Order: sequence, then structure tokens, then C-alpha cells
Amino acid sequence: MLIMYYYYYIGALNFYKINSMKKTKLLFTGLIALLGFNSIAQEVDRCGTNVYMEERMQNEEYARQHNEIQARFIENLDLQKSSRRNEETLIIPVAVHFPTGSESNRDCLVELAEKQMEILNNDFNGTNADISNWDNVEDNYPNSSTGSANVRFVLATENHPNLDPDLEEGDPAVTIGYNFGNGGDSDTNWAGYLNFLVKPINAGLLGYSPLGGNPLQGDAIVMNTFAFGDNTVGCGQFTSSAPFNLGRTVTHELGHHFNLAHIWGNQGGCSNDDGISDTPSASSATYGCPSVVNQCGSINMTMNFMDYSNDACMYMFSEGQTDVMRSYIETVLSYYEEDKIDPQVIEDIKNENNVSVNEFSSELAFDLYPNPAADHLYIKMNNEIISENITVQMFDITGKMVFELGVNGKVEEIVNTSSLKNGMYFVKVFAGDKYYADKVMISK
Ligand SMILES: [Zn+2]
Repeated sequence: MLIMYYYYYIGALNFYKINSMKKTKLLFTGLIALLGFNSIAQEVDRCGTNVYMEERMQNEEYARQHNEIQARFIENLDLQKSSRRNEETLIIPVAVHFPTGSESNRDCLVELAEKQMEILNNDFNGTNADISNWDNVEDNYPNSSTGSANVRFVLATENHPNLDPDLEEGDPAVTIGYNFGNGGDSDTNWAGYLNFLVKPINAGLLGYSPLGGNPLQGDAIVMNTFAFGDNTVGCGQFTSSAPFNLGRTVTHELGHHFNLAHIWGNQGGCSNDDGISDTPSASSATYGCPSVVNQCGSINMTMNFMDYSNDACMYMFSEGQTDVMRSYIETVLSYYEEDKIDPQVIEDIKNENNVSVNEFSSELAFDLYPNPAADHLYIKMNNEIISENITVQMFDITGKMVFELGVNGKVEEIVNTSSLKNGMYFVKVFAGDKYYADKVMISK
């Protein structure tokens, strides 16, 4: 179970050599002939990362850079494990590409891209509303806890390459009808971004990514047209379909991009592992919405984003997994170009990060309840601040203020939260020359 990541990595490379692409394709075609599409989604390796990575590694220069990044990653992971240091929010500029999209659909596609960023920002930071389901199952996983990578994905708005005539400076980096990578899956014109490429791919596949993406190469997370965004936004051919309609397969593929294997390892069987100590051993993928599965003498972590459960039934990364992703992002962070993001947005994110540090203050001057809240949130001021002029502000996870109110002399305030989306929010209370902060979950 406790296999050093280094050995896992060597094992993965061997796997790439023996599992030839041709053989997998043949198997895949045969299954399509035998089964209907719905069955395909259940039976076939719906994520093409391992096969795709084998293909990428055949390029000598790509493989050389990959090995160099992996060597530095292993050093970073050792550091991360010895002293967990997730304090600083890592900010990543994102571009989303729809080569088969239509320009007349731009507003919708931008909204779809923004929705997917919101989902990723929640899933990677453990602030998704359904992570509360973990409370019901955590006794099954005594050596595990949920993790947060403290990372922020921001649609880039500045210094775009001049490639899509309809993409204007200041607008989100969403290309429509641009032939990304000349039909391939990476594009060095878009080096420096985290790229999402949404296009029709083999119908049984939801998506794929390099196992350890390289921003210098303009690598992309490739998603099928029906597996990007969620069921609240649909844009013609880019409309997600159940059970992959909550944007979670993008979370899964982005996990690969940041060096995570499937929780059953790459070869399957109980003696193979994902190299992460707090994800229990699994011998193969689980599908649908499994209850309790025990393949290797411990209960499978089927709700993990790196299994194959339905979007609605996966909701967490483990702390060991977020250690890996955090270490990987730190390794390649300098390849992402920060000048693609509005400096004000960067500053707002950094300030918000300071808020989350203060939330652990023992001199908390107010209480929030219930937490999680649904349609109403009560804010109760404690004695030490009640004589001050008080202002309450609430922010969503992107740093946008959702309300502000003055509370002069009142002990308790009721806030109507019925119009807020599910997720994590930060509440700041300004009293005199100080402010206090806490967070609250909205869940309906
Ligand atoms: Zn996968």
C-alpha cells in the first residue's frame, strides 16, 4: 500500500510500453460493435489518459521535458509531505477552446466555461457543497481525510495571442472556431495557459489528459462535447448529458493533468496502487453510484474524483492526492504566465486568502448559524463588538461580494440567502478598526 511515488512512476512508464495503443483501440472497437452506447459508458475505460500519455511520450523532446518535471516534482512532494505548506493560493490562467463551436454562441460558451471554473474551484479546494456527504462515510476510511489544494483557476483576460479575431483583449480567453493544435491536442501558441479543449472525440470517451501536463507545450485537457460544464448551462452541441452533467469528469481529467493516477493504479489488481497512502487499494474502477465496495480488504473510495463513479456520486480528493497535485502545480507554476490575468483579480484572491487565515482567530466576534445554511443565515454579534458600528459583507468563492449591510446596535441579523448558489462563502464583519471573518456553507 505504501509505495513510494518514485516506484509508482517507474511502473507507470513500463505500463506505457507494454500496453500498446493499437491493442487498446482494437478492443475498444470490438466493444462498440457488441454493446449499445449506454453500456459503453459503463464497461469501457471512459478516460483515455493512459493511452494518450503513451502516445505523447513517443516524442523525444516531450519525454525529456516530462522526465525533468517529474524529477523536480518528486523533490517538491517530499517537501510537501514533511511540512504541509498550502498557505499561499496558487493562481492559474485558463483558456478554453471550442474548435467546432459557432461564434454566434459566444455568450453561452463563455458562461459554460465560467461555470466549469466555478466547479473546479470548489472541487479542488474542498468547498463543493456535496463534500458534506463525507461526514456520513468517513468512519469507513479511518486513515483518510478530504484535501484542499488551495488553487484558483481563473479564465485569463489579458495579453491573448492574436489567433481568434473575435477574442478581444479584456474578454475571457475562450476561442471559438479556432483550429487548436491544427486538429491535435496541444498548441504551443497557447503555452503558458492551462488549456481546456472541448471537441467531439471517440463517443465512448469522456476525456483525457497527459499524466502530468506541460504548460510549455501548450498541453490541454481534452473533453468530449457532452462532458464539459454542467446541466445549468447548455450551448447546442456543448450540452452535458447525465450521468456526466455536473462537470466532475473535467475535475477527474484535471487530476491526471496534475499527476494523479486512477485510484486502482494503472494496471489494476490489488497489488497495484496509485502511489498515494490515504486512498485504499482498489483492483478496478467502480461505476454508477456504488454503496459499499470492498475489492482489496478495505472499502473502496468510490466517491473519489479519480474513480469512475457518476458525477453526482464523486465529491472528494484525499489529502494525499491534494499533496501530489499541489506539489505538481508548484513544479510547473512558473510556466503559467501570470500576466494573462487582471492584476486586480490576483490581488483580490490574495486578500481573500488572508481572510481565510483570520477565520481561525480565537477572538471571533460573531456566530453564523445554521451552517450549512439554506434560505436564511443568522449572524449573531457577540458582546465585544456590539457597541461598535458594524458592517457585514459576504463574498463567494471567486471573491465577488454578494451582499453588504450595516448592523448598528442589533444583536442578531437574519440574511435571506435563498438566491445564493450552493457553495462556500466568506463573511467579514467590520467593527471599529478591526474586522473578523468566518466561512459558511450554503447548501439547499
Ligand atoms: Zn482517468
